[in-house]
Parts: sequence; structure tokens; C-alpha cells
Amino acid sequence: MTETTTSTARTDRTVIRAGTVWTGGASPRLLHQTDVLIEGGKVVALEPQYRGPADQEIDAEGCLVIPGLINAHVHPGTSPRSRGLAEDIDLPPGAAYYHMTMPVQMYSPEVISATDLPGIIEWDCLAMLMGGATTIVAEQFGTADAWIALVERLGFRCDLGTTFPSTYSAIGYYDKTSGKVLLGDRGDVAAGLRNNLALHDRWHGAFDDRLRVHLSPHGPDTVPEEVLRATREEATRRGIHIHLHLAQHKLELETVAAQSRGMSSVAYLDSIGFLGPDVMATHCTYLQPGDYPILARTGTNCVHIAYRKAKEALTSPFREFFDHGINVALATDSYSHDFILDLKFAAMLGKIRSGGGGRITAETVLRSATWGAATALGRPDLGHLEPGAQGDVVIVDQTSVFNAPVFDPIKSLVYYSTAANIRATVVAGRPVVQNGRVLGADMAAVRAHTEACCRRLWSGAAGRGVLPQGVFYPDPCGC
Ligand SMILES: [Zn+2]
Repeated sequence: MTETTTSTARTDRTVIRAGTVWTGGASPRLLHQTDVLIEGGKVVALEPQYRGPADQEIDAEGCLVIPGLINAHVHPGTSPRSRGLAEDIDLPPGAAYYHMTMPVQMYSPEVISATDLPGIIEWDCLAMLMGGATTIVAEQFGTADAWIALVERLGFRCDLGTTFPSTYSAIGYYDKTSGKVLLGDRGDVAAGLRNNLALHDRWHGAFDDRLRVHLSPHGPDTVPEEVLRATREEATRRGIHIHLHLAQHKLELETVAAQSRGMSSVAYLDSIGFLGPDVMATHCTYLQPGDYPILARTGTNCVHIAYRKAKEALTSPFREFFDHGINVALATDSYSHDFILDLKFAAMLGKIRSGGGGRITAETVLRSATWGAATALGRPDLGHLEPGAQGDVVIVDQTSVFNAPVFDPIKSLVYYSTAANIRATVVAGRPVVQNGRVLGADMAAVRAHTEACCRRLWSGAAGRGVLPQGVFYPDPCGC
């Protein structure tokens, strides 16, 4: 990092009182009626009754206290404009859900200005934070200025990349006329890599190291080979992590096979030396049997996204990764950011896919969302609550009609809780979400702004004929 925007020595003490603490990490422990003391932004003690001084206390009685959840793949700003547009459509062969909503995203700049967009991105961010994330791994299309301002103001932790190619059309969109998914002009993809590197040099380590920056090539089908090779070289030379989509949909596989004499996406990336333990590969839905040993040998990390894939009538591999010794993180991707709902889907669909349980337990998915993701990010200071770890915590009320009484707090979390049960989230010892709201945000104002923008967008899209399906029902006042 070349410039420090915020840097203060932290001595403040936060105590999270009397919760049931799941420590996470390599050897998780469950500690009842335990206080978590955070000082200078880091966990310093777990003890039954802390009696020393504290600057702030958070009551966690009746709550499960877990390490901060790491949402390992999102695209800021896309969800509010896309929800409800295409869930019930039968997808064309080889397509993904996002291909259907992309024409609306592509039309968006005609009615949503550059000054309107930050409010929509903020509303999306509020969902991620209310959904339980304390660290967000963000793949941003276009400029990241608005997102970076949110990291600074709202106090969460972020690992950010700016995706290249940087336009929505370049990653594929459904064309009603031809009935096919088309790829738009990619533009100068190498310039996208240069922009991402400049972002890294400017912002990596900012805000007391709450913001880090990785490289974000979109995928093996949309990024030219010379840019993938350059990305690998820069990442190795500078020690930067890489995040990309991999084996996401069949069109990707067909494109890669056509340009690589029939290789799978994984085999192709391996053939150019791209994979490694500093790579996070999201989705990995369409893996071939020979791909698993490659991912395991190279130490590549996979990001599993259960809920979004279920909307496409799909399950992605999950237990298969554990069987092959491949590290896994979890994410919400786009459209729904209730991360606890995502834990539920990962557990349920994992059981269905494996034909009856196996190793997909509540603790398996919780470990993936914490320690697995921390490992993928190369962050041994995240994903657990032992002394020395970052003071990132999620506190989940377990006294509701849906999740109490509690026989097993982890099962109560995964199978019977939702994000609505989150009492507070804390990052580096400071509350980010508390009492049903994101601190530092005017949620009502952001909602009103986003509502107005999206109604304008959907009305315009209906008139233009770019809605994927059905009718937009404007509200009675027509605003
Ligand atoms: Zn994605």
C-alpha cells in the first residue's frame, strides 16, 4: 500500500458477554457461558467471567457466538436490480441464471446515472452485512470507488477485485431474437488487469488493513490466454491472490474446449500454470473426474454457492471437495445475501447430492464459511476466535420460536436460524450490525433511493422489451 488513509493504534476493549462460543479454526471448541474479550481489534481472552475494564459490552446471553462469516464471492450492486426477474424461467441449454437478467443490467446505465449507482451498491452491501458477513470478498464490475467508501464508512472487512473484462455484456447475455447466449465485446481486457493492479497498489491494506485487494479475472472463457498468463505472473511476482469463476456453466466449458483442443476448464488453467493455493475458484459446478486431482495437487481453493445454483435446478460439488482434500469456502454470490440461509442450503443440498448425509454436517458448512474461507484467503487470523485472531464475531440469538430450545447450538444455527436472528456482528471489536440495523447507514433513505431507481429501471426495461419474463407491476402511484 502506498498511502495510509486511516491508521490508529487501537486500545479499546469490547466484551461479548455470556454467550455460547464456538471457537472455529482447526480444532473447534464449544464454550458455554463464556465472555470474549477483544482489545486493539483482536481477541485476547475467552473466559467465564471477565471482570476487568471494558469500553463497551455486548450481551450475548441466549446467543451463539461464532467467528465472523466470510462471504467469499459477491458482485456489489447487481442483486437489487435483478431479484425476481427470471427465477421461474427454463434456462436455455448451457446458460446460467445471470445470462437472463443481464439485458436489464446492460440497459441500466440508460436510466440509472453514475450518481444514482452508489446508493444501489450500498443497499446491496447492507443486505450482505445484515446477512451475517463480516468479511466480504467482492468482485466489482466497473469502478470500485463507491464500494471502497462503504468499506471505510461501515467498518466491515473486504477482499476486493475489479473484474476484467469489466462490462456486463462481455460475460454473456441472453438474446431474445436469436434465443442464444451471446458474448459482447470484451474490450481491452489487459487494461482491466492493469486497473486491478493499480487498485491493489493504491488500496491494499487500507483502513487498518480492513481492505485488501486481489486480482479478479472473470473466467477461463472470457479472459484471453495472454491476460490469464500475465495475471498469474503478476500475482506470483507481487504475492497477490487471484479470484475467478470456474466451471460455472456449460457454455464456459464449450468455449474453453473449443480453444484448447478439448480440455476441461480446470485442465486448461493447469496447462498454463494458472492454478495454485493463492487461487479461489468460484462455482466449480461442472467438474470432470480428472479435475479433482488437479485442484487438489495445485492446492486451489473452491468457493461453493448453494442457493444461487439451486435456482438453476443444480447442485454443485461439495462433499466431493472434502473427499479429495480440496479446501472449500462458501458464498451467497448474487440475489440473496442471507448467509445463514446459504449455510442451510449448503447442508441440505449437500445431503441430497451425496445421497444421505455423509460428512455434510452443520459444523462442516460452518467451518467452510469461516476457517475454510480464511484459509482460502491466506488469512490465519480470520475464521476463528482464539487469542490473537481478529475480533470479528457474529452473535446469533437462539431464543426465538424457530430455534429454541437449543439441544445443539450449531445445528440450531444452520437448520433453524436465519439472518433475522443475528443480534450483532462485530469487526475488529467494533459493532457493524446491532439491533436489526447496520450502524453508520441511513437504511430507510438508502431503501427509498434504491426503490425509486429500480422502479425506473424495470418500467423502462418493460417498455424496451428487455425484461426476461412476465410483467412488471408498478405500484399504484406509478412512482
Ligand atoms: Zn460471480
